Amino acid sequence: MQIVNSFILLFVLFPAFAFSTALPVELVAPGVYVHHGVHRDINVDYGGDICNISFVIGSKGVAVIDTGGSPKTGARLREAIREVTQLPILYVINTHVHPDHVLGNAAFKQDHPVFVGHDKLAGFMAQRKDAYLRNEPLWVGADAVGTELIPPTMPVTDTRDIDLGGRTLRLTTYPVAHSPTDLSVFDTASKTLWTGDLLFIERTPSIDGDAPGWLKVIEQLRAIPATYVVPGHGPVSSNLSGALDDEKRYLSVLLADVRAAIKRGESMEQTIATAAQSEQTKWLLFDIINRRNVALVFPVLEWE
Ligand SMILES: [Zn+2]
Repeated sequence: MQIVNSFILLFVLFPAFAFSTALPVELVAPGVYVHHGVHRDINVDYGGDICNISFVIGSKGVAVIDTGGSPKTGARLREAIREVTQLPILYVINTHVHPDHVLGNAAFKQDHPVFVGHDKLAGFMAQRKDAYLRNEPLWVGADAVGTELIPPTMPVTDTRDIDLGGRTLRLTTYPVAHSPTDLSVFDTASKTLWTGDLLFIERTPSIDGDAPGWLKVIEQLRAIPATYVVPGHGPVSSNLSGALDDEKRYLSVLLADVRAAIKRGESMEQTIATAAQSEQTKWLLFDIINRRNVALVFPVLEWE
């Protein structure tokens, strides 16, 4: 009876406790929250919640950094925000065009935020819109209802600062690297860096851009004085350069192995079986992602 009474009391005092579907979030630094998606591939038990999605609270309001892979995931992130603050959601920032990072945007339309992204993001969203919308029900089932591609109303060229009140978010855009639309966010107050998918930790880095270009951007990221780094996928780290070293090693080995295979006259299928195999035990989802990377890199390097 005592236990039953305690439960009833809990629900009366904290109604959210009973019904909350808010995403669990990690408090990284004061006002900095990150939800970690699970390490799954988009084609296998995906669920629309596989990357890191975050929010930052200043005295004026909130900025969201990526929204997840469905309106449902976006709505659950919004719930998590509302459990922490009632301040207005002023900005929704997308780190790049990939569906696992942007297809939750629609959940924030009600807040009338400024949508922010790379100046190439709108073009790539338009180009990929039909394919993403066609695939979304296959990826996330009923959670696909209400999915929209919402392009930036504030496109960023080079760098731009956003004042959240008591903290500034410095946005930086990059030439083609992981993707053609990469943007990083650096919070001056906590010295937290969001790399989007310019950095993977634990999960095999996937290429949808230019591997040599990505290696150059890795050196650019090294110069950022980050206390914490939130990668696109994987745990928050306080060792930016170590994480970049791991990623640089994988990309370098991949490029070297594919170039050597081409030189030996091997086919793409043969190369898929051999390239970067020394990295196989060091990353999650390696076989599926490495295969795609080789398939993307091989035809480009063939023409070098
Ligand atoms: Zn991603």
